[in-house]
Amino acid sequence: MSSVNVVVLGDNITNNAILQKLKLGESIKQSVYSWAANELAEQMRSDLPAFNGNRSNLEKHILKSLAEEEDFERFKTYIFNPRDHFEVFITDVVKNYMKKDNPRALAVIKKIIAHKKQCVISAAETASKMVTKKKGDANMWLEKFSTSLKDELECNTDHLSGNNCEDITDFQLLTEVVKKEIDLVLDLPNNDSKIVSAFKMEHFRKRPDEILIEHFCQCCWVQCPFCKAICTNTLEGHPGDHSIPFHRSIGINGWFYRRTENLSTDFCTTCVASDRSFYPYSDSEQSVPWKEYRTAGPKYANWSITPDFSELPYWKWFVCRFQKDLEKHYHKKYQGSGEIPDEWRKYTKKDAIKSLYKYI
Ligand SMILES: [Zn+2]
Ligand SMILES: [Zn+2]
Repeated sequence: MSSVNVVVLGDNITNNAILQKLKLGESIKQSVYSWAANELAEQMRSDLPAFNGNRSNLEKHILKSLAEEEDFERFKTYIFNPRDHFEVFITDVVKNYMKKDNPRALAVIKKIIAHKKQCVISAAETASKMVTKKKGDANMWLEKFSTSLKDELECNTDHLSGNNCEDITDFQLLTEVVKKEIDLVLDLPNNDSKIVSAFKMEHFRKRPDEILIEHFCQCCWVQCPFCKAICTNTLEGHPGDHSIPFHRSIGINGWFYRRTENLSTDFCTTCVASDRSFYPYSDSEQSVPWKEYRTAGPKYANWSITPDFSELPYWKWFVCRFQKDLEKHYHKKYQGSGEIPDEWRKYTKKDAIKSLYKYI
């Protein structure tokens, strides 16, 4: 075989016989990306403080970031659609980790690419050796090659028959073609500083943020009927009561004093210790003593709200900082019986954030 023929044959093999019929390109790519997604998610859980604990720890970071941003709209999503906010937060953190040619992400991606390359190359070399020894043909080569990669790449070997590659006899050339093709298939730059950003999110069958969302968000999302705080139980549909160590001021959820326009500043944990009553349904005059809140209906019955005075400064700061926004949102006022105590106004944003770390 002349060298000219080898080149021509090489091109034909590249384009038709191997890669397309084996769908090797897509298999290599998918296998690199899905391994990378898991490894990157794992590494982010150890590198990033927001991800290296349970969901309560993540929520603390979410609250810190909400306070830093001071964006009422984002607070609203967190309060009324917490799961949506958690998901957006996780996705943003992941994007940020993957964005700036982070050396930690680069190391993971390079390790995986090197490993996959090695697997494919040694499969090609093994197939060449065996076929040469047995004097087999290209179909035998393809079969051996893809069988040894089956576990590694989840290759489907069923479409191997009838490839019409019997005339190919230069198996060393096949190995060379495969080596060359791996880089082309992955389509990643040679320059290290560009690899992380070239790693395209849309190529992940399951992205690292989706893996982390699954990890953190499969838990109880039931919210306190008074203050909207999210149950901290890590099991969705768990037995027993919903509970949370820290509740919020109930005016944040729109609770107000009957027959007034006054939003309430009370915390549910303080209310349940009082001798007062509340009206669970706006269209009914029936009141329920706070101490018997569980009798108010199904959404109250399964909550364990223990009386205490653990009023987190974070929510006092929040009410003061977003007083006007809350008043506008509910068309009510913090006035009269719902006057914001002067003591609340002395909390700074820094105090608010600090209180998360001190108590939660
Ligand atoms: Zn509550
Ligand atoms: Zn729960």
